[in-house]
Amino acid sequence: MISLNTLISELRMIGLVYSRKLNKLGVNTVGDLLYHIPRRYEDYSLQVKIKSLEKGVKVSVRGTITSIFNIYSKYGKKLQKAVLTDDTGNIEIIWYNQPYLITYLKANPDIIIAGEVKLFGSKLIFESPDYEIVNRSPIHTGRLVPIYPETSGLSSKWLRSRINTILNQLNPQISDLLSLEILNRYHLICEKEAISQIHFPDSFLKVEQARRKLSFNELFLFQVGNMLKQRAWKNQKVLLKFQTGKFPDKINAFIKRLPFKLTSDQKKAIEEIIADLGKDKPMNRLLEGEVGSGKTVVAAISLYLCHLNKCQGILMAPTEILARQHYDVICHYFQKFKIKTVLLTGNTKLDDNRWNIIIGTHALIYRSDIYSKVGLVIIDEQQRFGVEQRAKLRSKGSNPHLLTMTATPIPRTIALTLYSDLDMSILEEMPKGKINAKTWIIGNEKRESAYKWIEKQIKENKTQVFIVCPLIDISETLESVKSVKDEYQKLKDIIFPNLRIGLLHGQLSPKRKNLVLRDFSLQRLDILVTTPVVEVGIDIANASIIIIEGAERFGLSQLHQLRGRVGRRSQESFCLLFSDSKNERTLERLKYITTTFSGPKLAEIDLRLRGMGEIYGARQHGQGLFNFADLTDLVLIKESKEAADLILKEDPNLNGFPLLRDKLKQDKIQNIAQD
Ligand code: ADP
Ligand code: MG
Repeated sequence: MISLNTLISELRMIGLVYSRKLNKLGVNTVGDLLYHIPRRYEDYSLQVKIKSLEKGVKVSVRGTITSIFNIYSKYGKKLQKAVLTDDTGNIEIIWYNQPYLITYLKANPDIIIAGEVKLFGSKLIFESPDYEIVNRSPIHTGRLVPIYPETSGLSSKWLRSRINTILNQLNPQISDLLSLEILNRYHLICEKEAISQIHFPDSFLKVEQARRKLSFNELFLFQVGNMLKQRAWKNQKVLLKFQTGKFPDKINAFIKRLPFKLTSDQKKAIEEIIADLGKDKPMNRLLEGEVGSGKTVVAAISLYLCHLNKCQGILMAPTEILARQHYDVICHYFQKFKIKTVLLTGNTKLDDNRWNIIIGTHALIYRSDIYSKVGLVIIDEQQRFGVEQRAKLRSKGSNPHLLTMTATPIPRTIALTLYSDLDMSILEEMPKGKINAKTWIIGNEKRESAYKWIEKQIKENKTQVFIVCPLIDISETLESVKSVKDEYQKLKDIIFPNLRIGLLHGQLSPKRKNLVLRDFSLQRLDILVTTPVVEVGIDIANASIIIIEGAERFGLSQLHQLRGRVGRRSQESFCLLFSDSKNERTLERLKYITTTFSGPKLAEIDLRLRGMGEIYGARQHGQGLFNFADLTDLVLIKESKEAADLILKEDPNLNGFPLLRDKLKQDKIQNIAQD
């Protein structure tokens, strides 16, 4: 009997090689695999006879393979040419490089195929269709067929058949996070049904129901987590109390020296933070504002107030690159004040305790040598800061004030509901002076002239350029996607042989990444070719052009975040979206980004335009908060909050919800009963 906790490496049908590949995706257990959900569905539910096939339709056909043999292409590749026959006619099929099909299909000639009918010369054919032996419940043909996120070496077909076997033969127990009462009250399908339908849906309606259930789970978990955090907070006291009334002149003087005027949202956030810092209870505030809304200066002012109170302050960023960048900016702000600011990364030791501000990565939380006089901890770009981390901080001494900064582009009304149990400041208004990057969609035919224009911009205006490619390696299913490495070689050798080009992607060592970024920010490189890792928070002053390859593969809000990388110093800037897509719907969608410059609005449009059965969620938009839940679905957000309220009221320690307790523990929102 298997359970959701069974390791996939223990399943014979998966084997060592594939479990390693899955492990790389973070899939370790049967549960992980079942929650590895499709990105969309191919609709092959229409089954027709061969006689009525037409060009361009996506269909399934049942028939018998009456002939199949290898032929050789000009380049020595093997093609498999077959004929499928039913009682109305014949159609030709071509597969590429799958010679094993010859024996396989000769032994099993009765099959269903699924694919798009193509016109080849004057003949209709199927090119590389999916196929399976006639079967009572097909999974690759004759239905809505799940397509999983593309990963090299793991095909959707492979995943489908494994997941199907697990669900329908091994049949692990899938229990529900929610009570029957909640399921009924909010018209939710049960977890088992949701998982089964999300992989092998009976209809698009069922997909929606499944998605709604999985979204509800996420939102509910999030709400319960927030309520527990808030509860745990209630009775705490700071050790190092701040005097906030004493320093308004100094704070004002600091603000006056800034090279810009604060927005009213920034001012309000600072006021709210100052009010919190004056209390006995440690602050636990979330500062929410999209990329470029100016959170760093709010952090700097808070740190300054901390310093005025003779306390030390800590600022943590998710990566070393960002920590370094914060360090540069903060040092700049603090230049004229005698504030000793230290960048602490990796295993560096502190020489002494005579520092005022430490800046480093989130790993600082695990250091024990720095917390004795810390009055304020600021955490950048961290969505889930749990009670555990909090307790860790507290165990180290001072029970400091805490400010968490996040960049989820959501409208204020939604944010207020979503985070209603937390103290929150929102920066909705974008700083003035940031000019919107002119954005164009560039088809293949204009690529050449775009490259010429870019070279000219670099040479004449000494500007710098980001070129973003979607993936690192070409996977079998994604021949058309530019691999970042290939693109780098091509740009370097052929297109821009006279320019200085750097390469950045997630597989480089942190040290190498730092070096490349350093070179780019010191203008030792003209062009940085990169995967979307540049997305979070990087600030290259001089960059004013960003090119995004395969733009159709990104969500609008992700494109917007990427676009935010250029024009950081109010210079005129440009975003060129390269897309070979001829699909009208796709181009229609992309067009929005040429005219809309608000992150929350684009997030909303993204979700509105989401096609039937497409279930990509926030994470694929780079928002990172949820996998399924739409951040614009106010109704579901409200319902999940109501449900969380209800359950915590009836069962404050969640004794009747073991699975929920487990999940909260995994999310590090633990010690719920004790805290
Ligand atoms: P984020 O919220 O993404 O962390 P940053 O703090 O990096 O944004 O700010 C983005 C840019 O906007 C920085 O270059 C910063 O100097 C600038 N900035 C911040 N506040 C203002 C303001 N009130 N007016 C003009 N520019 C500002
Ligand atoms: Mg930032």
